[in-house]
Amino acid sequence: MPGKQPEAAAEARVAGAEDEAVEGLGGLTMEELQQGQEAARALEDMMALSTQSLVRAELDELYQEVRVLGQGRFGRVLLVTHRQKGTSLALKQLPKSSTSLRGFLYEFCVGLALGTHPAIVEAYGIGIESAASYSLLSEPVLHGALIAFIQPKVGLTQPAAQRCATQLASALEHIHAHGLVYRDLKPENVLVCDPGVQRVKLADFGHTRPRGTMLRLAGPPIPYTAPELCAPPPLPDGLPIQPALDAWALGVLVFCLLTGYFPWDQPLEETDPFYDDFLVWQASGLPQDRPQPWFGLAPAADSLLWGLLDPRPRKRSPVSAVRGYLGRPWRQRKGEVEEVEEVQEVDKVEEVGKLEEAEGPGGD
Ligand code: ADP
Ligand code: MG
Repeated sequence: MPGKQPEAAAEARVAGAEDEAVEGLGGLTMEELQQGQEAARALEDMMALSTQSLVRAELDELYQEVRVLGQGRFGRVLLVTHRQKGTSLALKQLPKSSTSLRGFLYEFCVGLALGTHPAIVEAYGIGIESAASYSLLSEPVLHGALIAFIQPKVGLTQPAAQRCATQLASALEHIHAHGLVYRDLKPENVLVCDPGVQRVKLADFGHTRPRGTMLRLAGPPIPYTAPELCAPPPLPDGLPIQPALDAWALGVLVFCLLTGYFPWDQPLEETDPFYDDFLVWQASGLPQDRPQPWFGLAPAADSLLWGLLDPRPRKRSPVSAVRGYLGRPWRQRKGEVEEVEEVQEVDKVEEVGKLEEAEGPGGD
C-alpha cells in the first residue's frame, strides 16, 4: 500500500526525466508531466509544513471514542467526540508499525490539498502523532460504506446508481484537476451520507499520487485494476500513472452498481474468460457477442462503459464522460431484465461484496 510502507524506489517521480524519454513514458505528454510535477512539489511543501504542526498527544487525552466506523487494511476509523467541545469527528488511526511518517503525511496532505468538494470527505487539517500511531481527522459520514448498499446480483436502483456515478465522476475530476490520480476507487472507499443514497463522498487518499508517479502492480490484480497496470511495465520503474486508471475503476464500479457483480475477476487476457468475452464483444460490436454478465444493461450504459473500459488508456473516456449519459436508462426495462436473468449464469463472476477484503489496486 503506498505510503504505508517504506517508500519504494518505484515511487520515484519522473522529475528529471529526459525530454525524449517522455514520449516513451506510457505516452505521458510534457504538459501532463509538468502538471504531475507541480502537484508533487506542492505536496512536498505541504508535507514539510505539516510535519511541524502535528499535535503530539495520546488520543484519549483529546477525544472520547464513540464507536468504530470502519476498519481498513492498516488502521481503523473511529467516531470520536472532542472532549472539550463535544464535536463529532472521524479519526483514522494508522499504527506506526505499518505506516511511515512520510506515508501518513502524504495521505494527510492530499486530503488538505483537495480542499472542499461536495463528493469528497472533508479533511479537518488536524494530524496527531501518538506514541504508537499517527491519526488524522475528517468529517464523519454516518451511513457507512457503499459496499453495504449494493445488493448482490442486483446492484442499486437505477437512479441511485446514476447519482453515485455522477457524484464520483465529479470528485475524480476534481482530483485530476489537481494533478493527482486517486487509484483506489471501490465501494469500500465511498461513504454514504443518507439511507436513500442521495449523496456519497469519496474517502481514503492513501493511494493518491501525482500524475506521472512511477508505479508497478504489487499483488494480484482485482477487477478495478486497469489492464495497463497488469501488463509488463513499460519502464524498469513501472508505469507513469494517469487519470485513465481512475476512469477504468469508475467503469467497473458503475457496472457493479448496475448489476451487483463484477464484469470479470481480473482484466487479464487469456486468463479471465469473462474479460476475454468482453474483448471479443468490443472487437466485433455484434449483439450476439454480448457477454452474459452484460445482458441487463441498456445501450446508454453499454456506450458509457465501453468508453470507460477501453483497454487502451489513451483511447479511454475521461471520468467526465458520465455526464453525457444521464437522463437515459442504464438498465433494460424490467421485463427484459427478468427474461434475461432466467438464462443468465453469472454465478462464476464474483459478487461485489466478496472482494471487501481484497487488495487495493496496488502499485507499490
Ligand atoms: P484504509 O486506508 O485502511 O482502506 P479507509 O480510509 O478506507 O482505510 O477507512 C476504512 C473504513 O472506515 C472505510 O471503508 C469506511 O467504512 C470507514 N470510514 C473511513 N473514513 C470515514 C469517515 N470519514 N466517516 C465514516 N466512516 C469512515
Ligand atoms: Mg480504504
